Amino acid sequence: MFGVSYKKHHSGQKAKKFFALFLLVCILTVSLFSAHFILENIVHDCVGVGCYICVKLHNAQNVLRKIGMAIALALFLCAGLFAIYIAAAHKKVGICSSTLFELKVRYNI
Ligand SMILES: [Zn+2]
Repeated sequence: MFGVSYKKHHSGQKAKKFFALFLLVCILTVSLFSAHFILENIVHDCVGVGCYICVKLHNAQNVLRKIGMAIALALFLCAGLFAIYIAAAHKKVGICSSTLFELKVRYNI
């Protein structure tokens, strides 16, 4: 019985790791192809308003901008969570697992 639940938990972890790796590969591939498309077509024979290549260049720029913003937001959130973790480790935040007896002793000081 314990082995079955362990196997389910372990396979769930593998699926999460595979999905995260797949997502990372997709993001990197889209970023690289977008950058390559921009570099390849930045100089073109532009027909002016309604140029098909200009529309595609704007789309590629938007994709790169959104991926950059998502990465910056993820790094910001990770830094915030890390700061909370460090603060909790040093018991400067009230996320500690003190017992009621420890709290009573602290308040009596
Ligand atoms: Zn153009």
